[in-house]
Amino acid sequence: SVFSKINLKYVIQETIEIMKPQATLHDLEIMYETLDGECHVFGDANRLKQVFINLIKNAIEATPAKGNIQVGMSRKASGIMVSVSDSGCGIPKGKLEKLKEPFFTTKENGTGLGLPVSLNIIAEHHGTVDVKSELNKGTIFDICLPALQ
Ligand code: ADP
Ligand code: MG
Repeated sequence: SVFSKINLKYVIQETIEIMKPQATLHDLEIMYETLDGECHVFGDANRLKQVFINLIKNAIEATPAKGNIQVGMSRKASGIMVSVSDSGCGIPKGKLEKLKEPFFTTKENGTGLGLPVSLNIIAEHHGTVDVKSELNKGTIFDICLPALQ
């Protein structure tokens, strides 16, 4: 993989552009809230894009038409946080631990690889992943990556 100083804002913006057509097909809008100033991290832009593609794809697949998908960025003591949230079906408490397991899927044509691959990529970037979900309300994935000065 190719690590370099990258601006996370552009990675997120490009990912949203990639995912917009798929959201439109599902009659969903992707809302995006960026940050002022630089958002540099040390990382592999393509692999980070893969993470946010996976998260947004899951959000689209979980959310009924006319729902919301929000992608937000914020600064934390531990780095830069990117939150992907949806107003979809949610994940039952008992299933949260299973998300780490390769091939765990509840979809007829799912692979169950999107999240395990994403968790590996974030770990390679020394980042963290936090999931909050409420059944029939929605799900939030918080990704935090160490900021680069
Ligand atoms: P896949 O999408 O191929 O099923 P993933 O690893 O991306 O594989 O996700 C695994 C499972 O986690 C999904 O099948 C789904 O049950 C659950 N999941 C992931 N993201 C969400 C979400 N945003 N809302 C509801 N369930 C989700
Ligand atoms: Mg998936």
